[in-house]
Amino acid sequence: MALLVHKYGGTSVGSITRIQNVAKRVIKAQAEGNQIVVVVSAMSGETNRLLALADEISSSNSPREIDVLVSTGEQVTIALLALAIHAEGKKAKSYTGGQVRITTDNAHGKARIRRIDDDNIRKDLDNGHIVIVAGFQGVDEDGNITTLGRGGSDTSAVALAAALKADECQIYTDVNGVYTTDPRVEPNAKKLDQITFEEMLEMASLGSKVLQIRSVEFAGKYNVPLRVLSSFEDGGAGTLITMEENNVEAPLVSGIAFDKNEALIKVKHIPHKPGMAYKVLDLVSSQNIEVDMIVQNDSQEGFTDLTFTVPKAEKDRVLALIKAASGSLENVEVRGDDKIVKLSIVGIGMQSHAGVATKMFKILSDENINIMLISTSEIKISTVIDEKYLELAVRALHDGFELEK
Ligand code: ADP
Ligand code: ASP
Ligand code: MG
Repeated sequence: MALLVHKYGGTSVGSITRIQNVAKRVIKAQAEGNQIVVVVSAMSGETNRLLALADEISSSNSPREIDVLVSTGEQVTIALLALAIHAEGKKAKSYTGGQVRITTDNAHGKARIRRIDDDNIRKDLDNGHIVIVAGFQGVDEDGNITTLGRGGSDTSAVALAAALKADECQIYTDVNGVYTTDPRVEPNAKKLDQITFEEMLEMASLGSKVLQIRSVEFAGKYNVPLRVLSSFEDGGAGTLITMEENNVEAPLVSGIAFDKNEALIKVKHIPHKPGMAYKVLDLVSSQNIEVDMIVQNDSQEGFTDLTFTVPKAEKDRVLALIKAASGSLENVEVRGDDKIVKLSIVGIGMQSHAGVATKMFKILSDENINIMLISTSEIKISTVIDEKYLELAVRALHDGFELEK
């Protein structure tokens, strides 16, 4: 008998009919001889709706209360799914993160899972129940409700699969697998039968939200077999996230990822002397603002320019922090641009092939697309471009690297 963790995202539980559909799917999976743990997200739009309610009062500093609020979305879904399974005459039991005891640290809004007590779940499974667990949430050591960051139900599912030593963690969503790029932007995107953990990690960290990055990290760390499948279609094998060894004939480029949530910050006229990059970036990171791509270059004699990206929502705060800086940063010029997108290509095969970057830049240049920033690692090349060229760029790269169906 296999133990499977199924996870259904917001769209897949977006209405009563869809929740009833999920009930049928998990009942069928159980009838096929499996033990089933189901992790669910809030119904689509619900988490945003709750956050907007909080914003109507203030977008202030009450992260503990925000977590109490947003975690309710998932609590609604677990109960509705349990009711739907009961209505089919089968046994099911729902648990919030706190009831399972999914213990996290106390970083509200981006908590990390520390441990999971699996006693209740195992007992229920052995008694023939389908066990339903609310995604996205846990409790800290003091019993405060925490949440795991947007898209965090993926991580709940993988962590449960790791704790239960499940045979597979199956992420059911509104596409039937991981594609070469977001199929909503490039209709010719091709479904991948498999992708390596490393590539999936890059794709997720570079903006492909099909899996939350932490879920991929977790799966890699604990060796959880992870698969992405459609919650609407029957019978497909989806995409398996595999270890690198399985994939000998790796293509140069496996996928294209993009992230619309970053803004560019340009700091000019910084005195060219030791410690200045630290000074600028420390202003930002000491406020817990994550800095992503960073480029420094000489400008006129004695001065240097520093360009970096931060989350779009933090642009104005970062500009204000730098403008208010004193001492050696008093005379710098600073500008922000949030009409940009980070566009990346990812592929394990590019490790051993020169010229991939050159080809990427030629493809963009042929479309007259200006590159504002470049950064590379062994298996990815990222650029920052004007957001208005995103679709054109994705399609040109998809075509140029022959990723189409
Ligand atoms: P869920 O609500 O099930 O968690 P998400 O909206 O978080 O679903 O993730 C699924 C979406 O991810 C798809 O609808 C698709 O638009 C987007 N996506 C982005 N990049 C990719 C990719 N490379 N392959 C598949 N889907 C992708
Ligand atoms: N409901 C949460 C969100 O919208 C978690 C999730 O869907 O994974 O981000
Ligand atoms: Mg998601």
